[in-house]
Order: sequence, then structure tokens, then C-alpha cells
Amino acid sequence: MCPMRRLTIGFLLLAVAALFILPHVLSGQAPAKFGSRTSTVRLYLHQENKIKKIQLEEYLIGVVAAEMPAEFPLEALKAQAVAARTYAVKRMGTGGVANPLHTGADLCDDHRHGQAWLSREELKERWGILPYYNYFYKVKTAVDETRGEVLTYQGQLIDPAYHSSCGGKTENSEDVWKFQVPYLRSVTCPYEADPQPVQTVSISLEQVDQALGTTLAAVPVSGKKAAGEMKVVERTSSGRPKTLVVDEQQFPAVAVRDLLGLRSTNFTWKLQDSSIAFTTTGYGHGVGMCQYGAKGMAEHGYNYQTILGHYYTGVEVAGIEN
Ligand SMILES: [Zn+2]
Repeated sequence: MCPMRRLTIGFLLLAVAALFILPHVLSGQAPAKFGSRTSTVRLYLHQENKIKKIQLEEYLIGVVAAEMPAEFPLEALKAQAVAARTYAVKRMGTGGVANPLHTGADLCDDHRHGQAWLSREELKERWGILPYYNYFYKVKTAVDETRGEVLTYQGQLIDPAYHSSCGGKTENSEDVWKFQVPYLRSVTCPYEADPQPVQTVSISLEQVDQALGTTLAAVPVSGKKAAGEMKVVERTSSGRPKTLVVDEQQFPAVAVRDLLGLRSTNFTWKLQDSSIAFTTTGYGHGVGMCQYGAKGMAEHGYNYQTILGHYYTGVEVAGIEN
């Protein structure tokens, strides 16, 4: 090897050392506990079937914008930003262990596989060009003002479940998912600002039968009898149905909600001729942060730390580089 080439390689090694090692030595800081705030997210785009590399804080703008209306107050958006960052950082570097459908990606933009994400182009379409600049700046402010902040419980990143509106009280995690999580406890939601929490939908007996595998429509009975074929046998601590018996079969309320496409498990029903009218309160699973509740708290002057502390019992807001 000629001396010149050796020199070049030596210089390259020195340059690499300077880039990656010296900053730690000079700053005297230990390596980041929860990854670096400048980390890159490997995001699976489910519609394009490809993996996009994107900076964490840039990714979070697209998540907050997709997951919470940008009209919401800044403190509610900041609470959402910290929750979304916590969710992302917890999964970064896992390389898709969580979901074999997109091996090699840390996160997915499909809301069914985690948290939704929208690109700037998609946000322009959603908001329209003129509101876009206002809303984008507002969401970016929420992400910037909470830069590097995540939620921990006893020093560990939490799974920050959230939902649209709880209807007045959130759920204990074990009433919805079987797992008892110490920071996902049922709490009251005093300022919930959902403009339409109560909604009614009629589903024909045939559709109910098809979804649940029951035979409500086939039984030649009076309306009253059919209504009697469905009853709540167990309630959650917040008072929602937990277990139901329909046509002598037992169902978790969560399954009934999924199979019938109801807005929440917080429902009552009424028989109408050949259909059942389901009246739901709130929207979503009811566990963790209530987004409309966060909106209401922000409108009553509470900041994002108080909002997060209310919905996630016993958690702390920590820095990524703690
Ligand atoms: Zn609520």
C-alpha cells in the first residue's frame, strides 16, 4: 500500500472518529438512554409498500396532524406530541419485531398497526392549501416545544394508549385488553369537549346475526323477547358493558363493538321491529388519554404536563437524553 493511500485511510478513520466519538467525549454526556433525539425512523408506508427514512421530530408532525384535529388547543396538541413520541421511541430500533408484515421498519403509517402518519402532501389535501400553513405551523410548534420529551413510568417508556372520547370516564386497561397496566387506570374526564358524544345507529337483526353468528332474526318471537335475548352480564369499573350474552352466547363487549362496528363499548340498545338501535357514548376504546378530554382541559387552562399526568397515572415527562 502506498504511503499516500495509507494516509488517506488514516484520515478517513480520524474523520469518522471525530464525527461519532468526539462529541460524546467533549460533551461528557453518557449515550442517550432512550435513543438519540436526532434518530431516524424507518417508517413503513402501507399504501406504497415501501420503507421511508425520516427524522423522528419530522415524523411526529405527521403523526400529531393525523391523530388529533389541528383546531385543538396547543396544549392538547403538545400532550399528543409527547404521547406520539413515546410510542415511536419505544419502537425505534426494533426493526419490525412488533409486526412481521413490515420487517425492517420500526413503525407503520397504517393506524390499524399503531399510530397514523400523513405526509405534507396528504395534509395539504386534508386541510386545503390556505389552512395548511397555519395548521402545519401549529402542529410543528407542539412538536418543537416538547422536543425530546417522552413519558416514563418507574424509569421505563410507557405504552401511551389514547382514544377520541371516553364519555366521562376512562377505562382500566384490563377491562379492555386483559392486561393490568399500572398507569392505564380509569379516571374521570371532567371537561370532555366532544360535540357529539352520543350517537345512535340502527343495525338489522340479520346484520347482527351475520356479525355475531347468532339467530336473533330467525326466531319467531315478539320484539320484547328478541330484546331479552341480549343482556349485559358484567360491567367494567366505569360502568360500561364488559360481557354480554346474546342469543345464549357469551361475548366480550369489546368483540361486540368490533363485530358490529360500534363507536365504543359504552352502549345501550333498543329493539325496533326488525333492527336494533345501538346508542353509544364516546368514541374509541376508552383507555389512556381522552383526546376530547385533553381539549377540554387545555381550554380550562391546564398545560400538557397536567393533562398527561391526569390520563396516565403516576407517569413522568422525561427527556430522551436523560
Ligand atoms: Zn373523556
